Amino acid sequence: MKWLLLLLLTIINPEISMEDKMLRKKAVELAKKIIIVDTHIDLHYRLISKRDDIADRSDEGNFDLARAVEGGLNAPFISIFTSARYEAEGISKSKADELIDFVEYVVKTDPDKTAIPKSVNDIYHNFAMGKISLPLGMENGSPIESDLKNIDYFYDRGIRYITLTHGSNNHIGDSSYDDEEKWGGLSPFGKEVVKRMNELGIMVDISHVSDKTFWDVLKITKVPVIASHSSCREFTPGFERNMSDGMIKALAENGGTIQITFGSSFLRKDIRDKIKARNDNITYYVREHGWMMNDDKAREYSRKYRNENPVGYADVSDVAKHIDHAVKIAGIDHVGIGSDFDGVGDSLPTGLKDVSQYPNLIYELLKLGYSEEEIEKIMSGNLLRVWREVEEYAKKFK
Ligand SMILES: [Zn+2]
Repeated sequence: MKWLLLLLLTIINPEISMEDKMLRKKAVELAKKIIIVDTHIDLHYRLISKRDDIADRSDEGNFDLARAVEGGLNAPFISIFTSARYEAEGISKSKADELIDFVEYVVKTDPDKTAIPKSVNDIYHNFAMGKISLPLGMENGSPIESDLKNIDYFYDRGIRYITLTHGSNNHIGDSSYDDEEKWGGLSPFGKEVVKRMNELGIMVDISHVSDKTFWDVLKITKVPVIASHSSCREFTPGFERNMSDGMIKALAENGGTIQITFGSSFLRKDIRDKIKARNDNITYYVREHGWMMNDDKAREYSRKYRNENPVGYADVSDVAKHIDHAVKIAGIDHVGIGSDFDGVGDSLPTGLKDVSQYPNLIYELLKLGYSEEEIEKIMSGNLLRVWREVEEYAKKFK
């Protein structure tokens, strides 16, 4: 129906479509002109097993260098992600090392096009050289493995933010996804972790943590913190993984930034409701038949049911809506983007399916009346300012 409306609009009023075309053109130009930093891309899921070259344009996944250039992306933080279960198995640190090795391998394969930045200055330098920066963010602090020296170790390897927890509580603190409370916020060791990260110049990332962990972090940190990939709870009531207005406000008062994430289920309640109904149906059917969820029959049924009952997608305009809401709460200096490209499967919004499509988001922001300067802040400026502040504070301890 949307295209029909657009067609009618064009026939009735050609000026509107002219104006629209100009905005689209401006968005593409702006994406090339400004630095775009995306604080969360899960490069490894698709690539580490195959050790594929990421230079060529691929039809798979959401990220490669060709599409990054097309979309104007200059600095995707590569997620050094370790699953929560590795902590129990005692293999988090070695897994994180493997993932960092892989990013180093990528840079060795394409040294003219890529580099791992260790500082904000490196980001500007690589941008001037026409290279794509691949900064490292660690998703889940499990690899610290109860030893503060490991934070120094990972700093030396290039890690510049650490997401304290992931899908479950860990030795650092409680996670938003865990049904149980283990520590009631940060663990005693977690408090030391935040302190050491401040001293070294690693940004503290509060995406994935429980609300209590978040408030504990704000009490302790001496510098602004980030939410590397979280959206606004206002649009997804009860979903603790997103941030409430009160938390967004406190994050801004701390000087930090919320990096809005793109997964459809992070953006819209109706999609969350459909996913819940779908999962409830599958679980009921599987139980009725006396199967376990990981039985072949259960998996087959689940796959078929999902195919037959799609939950739909959010739209790029929904991402703009979250950004706009966060700006209203936090101010223009405290909002950015953290897509979770290659990390949320087939759940990305229409118009933001991969890294070639940032201009569509910029277009939506222009349509909402954001100026070039404001868009630059959202697309990178705010995050780089926070990172700079974190670097400055750490200088006292060097
Ligand atoms: Zn995540």
